[in-house]
Amino acid sequence: AYDRVLEIHKQHLSPILMPYFSEPLLLHQGHMEWLFDYEGKRYLDFFSGIVTVSVGHCHPKVNAVAQKQLGRLWHTSAFFVHPPIHEYAEKLSALLPEPLKVIFFVNSGSEANDLAMLMARAHSNNTDIISFRGAYHGCSPYTLGLSNIMSFKTKLPSGLGCQSTMCPDVFHGPWGGSHCRDSPVQTIRKCSCAPDCCQAKDQYIEQFKDTLNTSVAKSIAGFFAEPIQGVNGFVQYPKGFLKEAFELVRERGGVCIADEVQTGFGRLGSHFWGFQTHGVLPDIVTMAKGIANGFPMAAVVTTPDVAKSLAKCLLHFSTFGGNPMACAIGSAVLEVIKEENLQENSQEVGTYMLLKFAKLRDEFEIVGDVRGKGLMVGIELVKDKMSRQPLPREEVNQIHQDCKHMGLIIGRGGIFSQTFRIAPPMCVTKSEVDFATEVLRSALIQHTE
Ligand code: PMP
Repeated sequence: AYDRVLEIHKQHLSPILMPYFSEPLLLHQGHMEWLFDYEGKRYLDFFSGIVTVSVGHCHPKVNAVAQKQLGRLWHTSAFFVHPPIHEYAEKLSALLPEPLKVIFFVNSGSEANDLAMLMARAHSNNTDIISFRGAYHGCSPYTLGLSNIMSFKTKLPSGLGCQSTMCPDVFHGPWGGSHCRDSPVQTIRKCSCAPDCCQAKDQYIEQFKDTLNTSVAKSIAGFFAEPIQGVNGFVQYPKGFLKEAFELVRERGGVCIADEVQTGFGRLGSHFWGFQTHGVLPDIVTMAKGIANGFPMAAVVTTPDVAKSLAKCLLHFSTFGGNPMACAIGSAVLEVIKEENLQENSQEVGTYMLLKFAKLRDEFEIVGDVRGKGLMVGIELVKDKMSRQPLPREEVNQIHQDCKHMGLIIGRGGIFSQTFRIAPPMCVTKSEVDFATEVLRSALIQHTE
């Protein structure tokens, strides 16, 4: 059966869809933080389907709500209203500070950021958009321009590149924060990774000012920031950096957008939203992934003023956005996060995990950095701590694959794919973190021998 599935995959699915691992993992079932393959072998899921399964695979309460709604009403289109959308809108807006109270429902993170870009331009009357190097905000033509990960650059025969032509007027500010030297797109981070490093903050603020000044109009429409860079390998900003960056953008008439696609819904532990960990208040917040535990759903939340500006300029529509299934599931997810104290669990188990993984940095020359917050922890692999060159991809592949063989699924990130991204469902326990640490340790020892 496995060979047949691989054959179908090869024949009928786009070659752009590259499964993790040389022997792709054929998954049949999930239960909370566990996944099961076609032979019944179980894996501890420490990546949550790209930081998405927030409360656990097939969580019984979420499943029960989904089944009930499935038998009642699936789809109406945004031309009609239904109870789940109102229930959900009330619950979600209660979790956001004033004046972030107006919600637009869409279906994916890319769509949410596309819409946020239109909102920023409609509200500010400006065109220039700023995002960071190493940012990932999606894969639609608009958000490809916002994103700045080398492997996502287009190589279209016409020469259309994502930055300048598909999405004009996007400028990438500093950041990147990787330890790796000679990186083609990232700013070299000379000091240690301490997120409270003031020296780094001042250096990046100066570079951020340069970016603002090189933008064509010198007046900004919007500035996108992930509170922790996700696809880039869970990279953090120095303390106070984002706050100053927001002020600089607002001085130039721009609106500030927090992309909470990976960081939202309590995953960071100390706060429900990533922007709160920086002490900033965005004008627009985009969210997806963990919002509905893996059911396709996304949202853009903004202020009444920004919402009015958009409504004056254009009609926006989504057939599936805010459908009854997604909203019912989203409500159940919020209830489970509260009832099972999952934000508190993210804080407690996340802090424990960071400490456990930090020991690996002391033990192994190739562990260049361990960083993160709550249940978003990055382990960056280097050739050695002096050179901080990224560990070659084949070697990272081997360690990654060895972890899978030992029953642990983790993610990859960073422009050289040199960083392990660890983001388990929020119901994870400390003993599961112990298991994951031992697997990682064994895989690293195997590599060293
Ligand atoms: N923003 C961030 C921060 C993301 O990590 C992603 C997906 N990795 C997106 C936006 C795009 O989301 P989607 O794949 O649902 O379009």
